[in-house]
Amino acid sequence: MKIHVPPLPYSKDALAPTLGPRTLELHYEKHHKGYLAKVQKMLEGKPEADGELEDLIRTADGALFDNAAQVWNHTFYWRSMRPRGGGKPEPALRDVLDSAFGSVDEFRRRFAEAATGEFGSGWAWLVKDKYGRLRVQSSTDAENPIREGFVPLLTCDVWEHAYYLDYQNERSRYVEGFLDQLVNWEFVAENLGLARGPG
Ligand code: FE
Repeated sequence: MKIHVPPLPYSKDALAPTLGPRTLELHYEKHHKGYLAKVQKMLEGKPEADGELEDLIRTADGALFDNAAQVWNHTFYWRSMRPRGGGKPEPALRDVLDSAFGSVDEFRRRFAEAATGEFGSGWAWLVKDKYGRLRVQSSTDAENPIREGFVPLLTCDVWEHAYYLDYQNERSRYVEGFLDQLVNWEFVAENLGLARGPG
């Protein structure tokens, strides 16, 4: 089967203290790989097993959609973070965020608002719409912006399993930590097709 869960892009203690190793252990090994196991079981012996994960996200429904989207969302989430991330984006990306939102701080405020405002389980996203405009939005459960024809640029998992061990019920503190310490601006720039600067 082509659909898989890639290795974590860093060690399980690399995001501490913002997200501790026990969170990454459970979130990656049990939750993320658990969604994959369910997709594998549902697709056993079916032609879609050799297809693209994105096609399932566009076309599948019910439990197959939920689990396939969760496989994709988590792979994208791990790459949306990096050790010693956060801070200010490099100038090319800063210009894009300034023109879309007025300032990087305003983007940050809207992203935090989407992440903390989503009632129950879901995701916060920065996406590019079909006109090339950037938008911040949240999604419920496994919902993925690819389904709406948007290009995902950044995501934050706001299911309780993402933060409960480190922050208990304080989702807003987790979201602050995500934005201040973990966000991987290089990944956002890459998803926007911005050229890398020297070095
Ligand atoms: Fe999760």
